[in-house]
Amino acid sequence: TNDVLDRWDRDNFFHPSTHLAQHARGETPSRIVTGGKGVFIEDRDGNRLLDAFAGLYCVNVGYGRPEIAEAIAAQAKELAYYHAYVGHGTEASITLAKMVLERAPKNMSKVYFGLGGSDANETNVKLVWYYNNILGRPQKKKIISRWRGYHGSGLVTGSLTGLATFHNKFDLPLSQVIHTEAPYWYRRPDLSMSEADFVTFCADELEKLIAREGADTIAAFIGEPVLGTGGIVPPPPGYWAAIQKVLKKHDILLIADEVVTGFGRLGTMFGSDHYGIEPDIITIAKGLTSAYAPLSGSIIGDRVWEVLEKGTDENGPIGHGWTYSAHPIGAAAGVANLKLIDDLGLVKNAGEIGAYFNEAMKDAIGRHAHVGEVRGEGLLCAVEFVEDRGKRTFFDPARKVGPAIAAALLRRGVIGRAMPQGDILGFAPPLCLTRAEADEVVGKTFEAVAEVLG
Ligand code: PLP
Repeated sequence: TNDVLDRWDRDNFFHPSTHLAQHARGETPSRIVTGGKGVFIEDRDGNRLLDAFAGLYCVNVGYGRPEIAEAIAAQAKELAYYHAYVGHGTEASITLAKMVLERAPKNMSKVYFGLGGSDANETNVKLVWYYNNILGRPQKKKIISRWRGYHGSGLVTGSLTGLATFHNKFDLPLSQVIHTEAPYWYRRPDLSMSEADFVTFCADELEKLIAREGADTIAAFIGEPVLGTGGIVPPPPGYWAAIQKVLKKHDILLIADEVVTGFGRLGTMFGSDHYGIEPDIITIAKGLTSAYAPLSGSIIGDRVWEVLEKGTDENGPIGHGWTYSAHPIGAAAGVANLKLIDDLGLVKNAGEIGAYFNEAMKDAIGRHAHVGEVRGEGLLCAVEFVEDRGKRTFFDPARKVGPAIAAALLRRGVIGRAMPQGDILGFAPPLCLTRAEADEVVGKTFEAVAEVLG
């Protein structure tokens, strides 16, 4: 049966983010995942792998939690589905909205539930446009995002994403989306810039972009508290304060995309708490249910909510909704997941074990001749590999150094992620990671780096 599944996979299944031709030719492995417990997954070939990327930074409570599985089963038996239109809801969806707002930063008013991070950001852009239409400034519509930001792969969200692979051959970005500098100090354009200089540079670049386009054409700025898929890059100190100052001055809304950072990953409930960000809208997904069921959300701040309400008085019901908005099974998973995060103290653990993990990684490989930087925050960590550390020159991308190290790590039973742009190995383990497991990831990474780079 194993061979049959393998053939069915190659014959029928369109895998996301995959080299389709290589997969069809059998040049990439098909891994059939059969189970998981804690930070480990198992596959049909009997491999047990330590998943130091929590799936796609989403299985925050770890695999195999019966509390969430039982909540899903109970909801499915009682009522698998009813819609949430025109005031309908379930105990789970109403309870989850309250739990999310109790945990959210201040001045947040309501939660809209979607399915995944991409559709939540799609919702956010629509709501921001609606907001400015109701305020009588229909020209104020452009959205600023950062190069290397990741916000999804739909039409508008793929445009917000600042990575070339998500634009090329898709005719993106859409004209309403413009990009500015990423707060990526290691790749600063001028090596003589201090972190403080670089923060000023990022704020100035934003100012220049706004001046060029006209503040009256710009609706919102979207950013992840810590850049994720673009390379796992915590911002330099003072970055968010400097950016928020510019946005306030020009009356530009701030959307914090907390799909990765929401619900504990940085050791605080939200990344906004960690960096003093005061967003108008917050995107949540992944950690909301720890991926036990698909569910995302847009947390809407008071200022935007007030206008949305006014809009419906003027125009009737808001023309936005999915069949599966606030799906009861996702909501039940979310309620059980947020309870579990509290009961197990996972936010605190993420902060403590994250600091330990990042330090241990720095100690183990931070001085290697081809390691340019080990960086991280909470339970996010990245190692950036370079050709020459002193001159900060990068490897030829054709050498695929990052993927080779990720593969060497995988052969040792640990899953890290070769980030899509640059030779960067990323880690985002479940928030229940222990010290012994952190040591194992670090030890195996040391060996993998030695195998590939000497
Ligand atoms: N926003 C951020 C910050 C993400 O990391 C992701 C996914 O990795 C998304 C949005 C898109 O979420 P989804 O893949 O659930 O559509």
